[in-house]
Amino acid sequence: MPLRVYFVIPCFNEEEMLPFTIQKMGEKLQSLIEKELISDKSKVVFVDDGSRDRTWDLIKAAAEDKRFLGVKLSRNCGHQNALMAGMSYAVKFADCIITLDADLQDDINVIDEFIQKYKEGYEIVYGVRSSRKTDTFFKRFTAEGFYKLMKAFGVEIVFNHADYRLMSKRAVQYLLQFEERNLFLRGMIPLIGLKSTVVYYERLERVAGKTKYPLKKMLSFAFEGITSFSVKPIKYITTAGFLMFLLSFLILIYAIVQKLRGQAVTGWTSLTISIWFIGGLQLVALGLIGEYIGKIYKEVKRRPLYFIEEIAGDE
Ligand code: UDP
Ligand code: MG
Repeated sequence: MPLRVYFVIPCFNEEEMLPFTIQKMGEKLQSLIEKELISDKSKVVFVDDGSRDRTWDLIKAAAEDKRFLGVKLSRNCGHQNALMAGMSYAVKFADCIITLDADLQDDINVIDEFIQKYKEGYEIVYGVRSSRKTDTFFKRFTAEGFYKLMKAFGVEIVFNHADYRLMSKRAVQYLLQFEERNLFLRGMIPLIGLKSTVVYYERLERVAGKTKYPLKKMLSFAFEGITSFSVKPIKYITTAGFLMFLLSFLILIYAIVQKLRGQAVTGWTSLTISIWFIGGLQLVALGLIGEYIGKIYKEVKRRPLYFIEEIAGDE
């Protein structure tokens, strides 16, 4: 039985990019079908993540063609939630799902290799960037720094892998069993286990439109990733606090000695510095703890991740 592959593509204000993406994905689908790598029932699912431009109109028009489907979310829920929405929809019909970005920065020529790996028995295939030549120095620096930081914090993620990957039906079903609200798919998917592998590709340049991940979103995504997956920051703070505590004993002894030697009144400077330093440290610690409490708060509410407003195309 030929393989039924569904592609899931989240789109947020991608009107400039979509005509190109729809065209390219249509061609790719066609060529994969002709090579008999996938069944002719395979489809591309575009998830409109609450775009404010013509994105949904373009998707709806594309969905006239039976190879394309559209899922419209009721508002902007973010990249990760949009991916979840698309996957939970597609998993009902697909044998395996490939997720990729609407800008096609992730080279679609390696899809054949993804499918090859699946046929060899791998249930999760991670697309990994072999180089970041086309990224700006800033993006490369921050992105790679982020992966290293995650690693230092003990989070198991695949280096330089974004959300370009293939998952078997079963792997997606397992992923859907995660109940958490703060989604960070790159951290969650390795937790599924199953036989997995990586495929390398060159990251291309965005053909049209601009990044939907401005610095602010990028930072909050990185922060989300760390605090959703690691409690190490709290541990570091505890260690630092403990060291400070020990240090304060030494300072105490020093202060007493100075006092006995009749050299007390000086010391205003060191005192002020200590107050500020410890005050700052405490604030950092409090803020961090607050961050985790905020997470717990969000989790216990069990809010739905997204709402589907409309579906275009028929299944
Ligand atoms: N995206 C989304 N919702 C958002 C932000 C982004 O669905 O709130 C989509 C976007 O349309 C694109 C993908 O996520 O398909 C990745 O975004 P982008 O290419 O802008 O990120 P970058 O490649 O610059 O990291
Ligand atoms: Mg991109």
